Amino acid sequence: MTASAPLIACHECDLLQREIALPPGEVVLCGRCGAELYRSAHSTLDKPLAFLLTAAVVLTVANVYPIVGLEIQGSGNATTLFGAAYALWHQGMPPIAVLVFLTTFLVPAVELAIMGYILLSLKYGRRPAGMTLLMRALQHVNPWGMLEVFMLGVIVALVKLTHYGTVIPDMALWAFGILTLLLAATASSFDIRDVWDRVEALPCREVDE
Ligand SMILES: [Zn+2]
Repeated sequence: MTASAPLIACHECDLLQREIALPPGEVVLCGRCGAELYRSAHSTLDKPLAFLLTAAVVLTVANVYPIVGLEIQGSGNATTLFGAAYALWHQGMPPIAVLVFLTTFLVPAVELAIMGYILLSLKYGRRPAGMTLLMRALQHVNPWGMLEVFMLGVIVALVKLTHYGTVIPDMALWAFGILTLLLAATASSFDIRDVWDRVEALPCREVDE
């Protein structure tokens, strides 16, 4: 630890501490409250990129294929997420239709697009344009992604629907389940600190506020 090392504030108790260089796999904890301050960065961007690209493919599959099929007295029906939102809109529940579309499709898609743009720019040695704005947008959009809440709702609805007919889980249901895990893996491997370190290490260092 040196006096010239940058200061970092603990996000739990606000104690100012000096940064130290970390060997791979190590974690720095706050000296006062023990909260995790940061961990050693990944050596490459390949891991977050791999999670992100897989999540993008699975998000597409989850929205193209039906979530669930229902068979009642010989007649069957199946719907996609868009189909469900569309039905809600036309049954007099536009606010709920908008919320479903926003929290289960638009927000995860925007998050993946922003992280993908930043990671790919850095991988090819370019400073992402509007970096500060993008990171702020990511922070504001993140709490609106509620795929896990949607999954819980779908599972409860499926159990209830079994009283009325035969419920057939379809491709998108499994895709949404896998996507919930992939989005968590992408978010945890997208290290904001590491990303900023990489941006600052690039030759062109003008600040876009
Ligand atoms: Zn602390």
